[in-house]
Amino acid sequence: MEKKELLTKGKAKELYKTSDDSKLVMDFTDDTSAFDGKKIEQLAGKGTVNNRFNNFIMNYLDSKGVACHLLEELNDRESLVLSLDMFPIECVVRNYAAGSICKRLGLEEGLKFENPIFEFFYKDDDLGDPMINDNHIISFGWAESDDIEILKKLTLEINDHLVDLFLKADLILVDFKLEFGKNSGKIYLGDEFTPDGCRVWDKETKKKLDKDRFRLGLGDVVESYQEIAHRLGVNLT
Ligand code: ADP
Ligand code: UDP
Repeated sequence: MEKKELLTKGKAKELYKTSDDSKLVMDFTDDTSAFDGKKIEQLAGKGTVNNRFNNFIMNYLDSKGVACHLLEELNDRESLVLSLDMFPIECVVRNYAAGSICKRLGLEEGLKFENPIFEFFYKDDDLGDPMINDNHIISFGWAESDDIEILKKLTLEINDHLVDLFLKADLILVDFKLEFGKNSGKIYLGDEFTPDGCRVWDKETKKKLDKDRFRLGLGDVVESYQEIAHRLGVNLT
């Protein structure tokens, strides 16, 4: 397998073609962005933590029967993944109130939801990733109704697995965002699961250990990602 030309440069990752059309190299860069790309910084070591973190989570989910795009870790920052036709949709699940739902509904941060709350967002930075529902997705052809049900079911299933995993490490999984795609008619979890795309608090102190440290200028961003990784048993070396 030979790494070929750049296919996509996103805000935190680069995707490269390979000699095999069905496989891509995903490079986790040190670029860190927030507020739909309005705040951008380079954080040394972030790409490596995120690559290893993502692979740990995807291998864990795979062991629970969730189909993930990860094929192989190649080096510190790069992994080989299955090429997917991505749905232009973000699937968010929330266990506690934080971030945009607090502003939208006037909630106090930290409110525990009786049941996880599922939300769809349209992936479009220029529009600020607006919240959408099933009707928008079907009307605009972003996914079919059967796929929508699978995306919801998979996201909630992944939440159940990960809430338990994080709790065992004295961590609260507050919320997270997933992206899915299709290959040969089958839906896979794509993109990443890293502290860039979730909120994680220490169970006792409620200290924020995720990208909110970057958004809010709290410092120690990469160190906090490493702390979550360490507690979960991710091998960073
Ligand atoms: P963003 O798109 O938010 O700027 P990223 O840097 O994470 O941020 O970009 C990675 C891009 O790669 C995203 O558009 C994502 O949907 C896409 N992607 C993730 N996994 C795959 C995959 N397996 N196949 C094809 N595209 C993927
Ligand atoms: N999220 C993400 N990418 C996005 C939007 C949200 O990874 O483009 C994650 C975010 O890190 C959080 C969850 O999805 O874990 C819910 O985000 P929210 O809607 O609260 O938006 P925010 O206020 O974080 O922009």
